[in-house]
Amino acid sequence: MSEHGQMVVISGPSGSGKNTVYEALCKRIPSLAQTVSATTRKPREGERDGIDYYFLTQAEFIARIETGAFVEYVKYGDNYYGTLRCEIERLIAMDKTVVLIIEVNGARRIKEMFPTAISVFIMPPSCEALRRRINQRGEMDEAELLARLKTAEEEMECRGDFDYCVVNDDLETCIDEIYDIIIKEKKEKKEHD
Ligand code: 5GP
Repeated sequence: MSEHGQMVVISGPSGSGKNTVYEALCKRIPSLAQTVSATTRKPREGERDGIDYYFLTQAEFIARIETGAFVEYVKYGDNYYGTLRCEIERLIAMDKTVVLIIEVNGARRIKEMFPTAISVFIMPPSCEALRRRINQRGEMDEAELLARLKTAEEEMECRGDFDYCVVNDDLETCIDEIYDIIIKEKKEKKEHD
């Protein structure tokens, strides 16, 4: 796989604001493009197959693991999530800055495989804020909410493994900080290439 395309891995607990930050960044850096992951999770209201995720059955997901289709995959809660090799290749071929918005174990794996990838961890300002944000998504029963909060605490302990850690206390400030990181890294890469 090409090492020439730039890759940005954005991670952080569920509810840290990763997707909101990404959407805002896209408006400012048009070359950004997110890989569409595969998952066995059921679609939430409004989510579309092939756009938000490739929604697979467990058997379909496992078949793809066996053919080596994933560069990384994890079991997160009761579901599998994985980054498809062909998605990264597709975006690199389009000369995009490839963005992966994934949980911490997958992010660490990507960093091992692509050492030049920039890894950014987004921290929620507090556990209370996180609970509120996860809850806003609705459609989650108390057990799943508690499980996600427990996972979030474990994920926050991994923030030291990332190149950058940005606190999403004020959304605009968080977006500005990550924008500056990407632009700075792009400039350095250009000088280096
Ligand atoms: P959700 O169910 O809220 O869409 O996603 C749950 C978690 O899985 C989030 O932290 C999300 O970033 C992460 N995730 C989504 N796609 C992937 C993937 O391809 N690989 C990994 N490792 N995590 C993913």
